[in-house]
Amino acid sequence: MATYKYLLLLLVVTCSLLGLIFIQYRLLHAGLALEKQRLDQQVTAVLREVEYSMDASPLLRSRLISLYRKQGQPLADPEYLLPFMVIDSIRGTINDAMRTKGITVEYSFAVFTPQAPMPFVQAPDFEKEVFNFEKYRTSFRGELLKECHCELLLELHVRNSFRYLLQQMAYLILPSILFALVLAGCLVFLMVQIRRLKALDRLKNDFINNLTHELKTPVFAGKLLLGLLRKALHGGQLQKANEYLDRLEGDNRHIAIQVEKVLELASMEGGRYQLDTQTIDINDLLPELEAQFRPLALERDGLLQLHWDSSQPLKVNGDRIHLRNAIGNLIDNAIKYGGDSPYITLSAGSDGNGQVIISVEDRGIGIAPQFQRAIFDKFYRVPTGDVHLVKGFGLGLKYVQQIATAHGGRASVESKPGQGSIFYIYLKRISL
Ligand code: ADP
Repeated sequence: MATYKYLLLLLVVTCSLLGLIFIQYRLLHAGLALEKQRLDQQVTAVLREVEYSMDASPLLRSRLISLYRKQGQPLADPEYLLPFMVIDSIRGTINDAMRTKGITVEYSFAVFTPQAPMPFVQAPDFEKEVFNFEKYRTSFRGELLKECHCELLLELHVRNSFRYLLQQMAYLILPSILFALVLAGCLVFLMVQIRRLKALDRLKNDFINNLTHELKTPVFAGKLLLGLLRKALHGGQLQKANEYLDRLEGDNRHIAIQVEKVLELASMEGGRYQLDTQTIDINDLLPELEAQFRPLALERDGLLQLHWDSSQPLKVNGDRIHLRNAIGNLIDNAIKYGGDSPYITLSAGSDGNGQVIISVEDRGIGIAPQFQRAIFDKFYRVPTGDVHLVKGFGLGLKYVQQIATAHGGRASVESKPGQGSIFYIYLKRISL
């Protein structure tokens, strides 16, 4: 997808998500307002019930009236108990009414007259002016008003009503937040995936271009050489014919290596490679690899050296062919990236932690630190501007890493640009 289309899609999805979040917020806001209205109605109904129960109880009325009349005066024994009795009765009525209405708020209350600044009956935790309180008031009418000939007000403070309202709405708020987070998470995930796919797509295109080039060149060259070979044979020039045959053989070997790499990729992609494990001694592999790659190094005026102590067995449980290919890939790279006359050292040994370490060292171009992790990724090649002087598919090291991991080991690199690289394969050593 073109970048602008991708950005447009991203913008549309992000705006839709933000729009959804905004609408959710507005809906929750409206929901909270409705809940608040409901709470107001319920608390007003609670106050009315306190009023009814007051009207229905002559004892409570007379106690309240006598407290009203004695406000500001000291209460003699046993009258000093009166406020507690009145508070308990009012609290009991409020509690019952709230329970039947299903309200579970914290509250306090007081009874006072509009003429006096301070209440003459108040619950111990009552405070006149406090933030975070919702105030509700009712004035006693009916019998109390008739008997007292005074205006008495009951004030009820509901504490942290906002928290209570949020709790009431929790069944809506929590899923809303959760779904918004899930959507946002999915969006981020999709963005990352699209970016990855785009990068992979670019790498795959590079790979196809590379592959076409790598196969086309030797096939064309081969066609030419075959024509020359035929001419040479007709003309009886055996020496020339042999020369052409050697070159044809070289090209064929080159194609075989490339095809092998693509096949390795195909088997890795499908997870189809089956390890045919057996006990092998790495010491046996090294001379074979040396024999295979020494001519290639010499062809480029280089040298491949073996550095190992064959008397010390380096046994591992592994797939001989895959391990050979993996180490071969490292040597092949060392030749390719080893400079004009590649000087390569192939070594194997063991450490004290039961590991066999195989290393391939070159004194070539090296790899800058910022690329050292990525080179093990599929199709990755260290960027060298638009031109890659050394041809390749960026698959060799991925294969090396995959094979090392499949054997319970790992692959790593140490490198300094301009000085060279050492690639390591670590495998579990077995002692038999
Ligand atoms: P390829 O060699 O086919 O490009 P690899 O997966 O084998 O793919 O290597 C990935 C990249 O890592 C190479 O393109 C190269 O840039 C870098 N690289 C690998 N081996 C070496 C080395 N010995 N020295 C310097 N760079 C290397």
